[in-house]
Amino acid sequence: MQKVYLDNAATTAIRQEVIDEMVQIMQQDYGNPSSTHSVGRSAKAVIETGRKTIAKCLNCKSQEILFTCSATEATNWILRSAVKDYGVKRIITSKVEHHATLYTVLALQEEFGIQVDYVGVLPNGTLDYAQLDLLLVAEVITLVSLMHVNNETGVVNDINRIGAMCHQNKALFHCDTVQSVGKTEIDLQEIPIDFIVASAHKFHGPKGVGFAFVRKSLVLQPMLFGGEQEKGWRAGTEAVHQIAGMAKALELSYENINEERDYIADLKSYCLQQLQAAFPEARENASTTFYNILNVLLPFSEDKTTMILFNLDMKGIAVSRGSACQSGSLKPSHVLAEMLSEDDLKKPSLRISFCHYNTKADIDYLVEVLKEI
Ligand code: PLP
Repeated sequence: MQKVYLDNAATTAIRQEVIDEMVQIMQQDYGNPSSTHSVGRSAKAVIETGRKTIAKCLNCKSQEILFTCSATEATNWILRSAVKDYGVKRIITSKVEHHATLYTVLALQEEFGIQVDYVGVLPNGTLDYAQLDLLLVAEVITLVSLMHVNNETGVVNDINRIGAMCHQNKALFHCDTVQSVGKTEIDLQEIPIDFIVASAHKFHGPKGVGFAFVRKSLVLQPMLFGGEQEKGWRAGTEAVHQIAGMAKALELSYENINEERDYIADLKSYCLQQLQAAFPEARENASTTFYNILNVLLPFSEDKTTMILFNLDMKGIAVSRGSACQSGSLKPSHVLAEMLSEDDLKKPSLRISFCHYNTKADIDYLVEVLKEI
């Protein structure tokens, strides 16, 4: 059966060069990076080289990059430390964030009684910047947590603008850049942002490794206690091969960024064109969207909504309805629920997300199968 993978916002295939790099590290640099002998020092050097590579891509200092096992961990750590150690009394976020942020904020609200304010989104998915401006005026120690690219709709938030607004109002700014790191340039010298988080498996690296950027002037308290790894902020023996794989994946993403971006953007517009040619009422669920994510509402009857992913899967096509963590759920997406009318929410929306391994033939096959459903 033909296999078509169009769920690259959920995770991506690992580049062969990344696999080769990781295998080599596992074979040769198996030392414990905390050991003082040469085998350990060699593993430590791998980690520090990876840190420098990542910092160079993002134009920040290598001490500002801290390795974690996922972006979820990095977000939990940053938000918790901000409340516990920085005295943050209020978090401003939005209801269209990933659950890694939303559920962490709710847990902190319950545990520490912090105030939580949600910035609204307009029906096209754009953030209500005017409302954010008003919310920021209050005299309370605040952290703003807003993502860069929405993982379900692809809506791109203007992080320069949000950063400037936070800076002006002395609020900390945490940004979930999981969907944008490795896919667009992020210059951390230019953007007034305090924390970002990223995950290697979203940019053709391995799963189980991510990082946090923490601006040099800020000091986090550890979430895990134990050894002195990661400045004593994140105890636990480092996953040397994963870190090396993540650095290699980011480096390769940057090396190919223009070529791959153009190629993928072309695939996305071809896909929308073909879908609209087949189903004239099909429409994208948002505007100002990123080049690799297409969230499209299909003019199908409601009874097709529940089975659509299953039917596509039976034909070898992997797409999703929302984030991977909730795609088994029949509840409407919490993101689309903020944007669409009740009627539109009942119809099937698909999140189709692309990478440079996809081809126009993949899209032709998807459209052909959808026509049969
Ligand atoms: N934030 C966004 C926007 C995501 O898309 C994801 C992954 O689905 C995460 C956070 C969580 O990342 P991780 O898989 O590293 O925990």
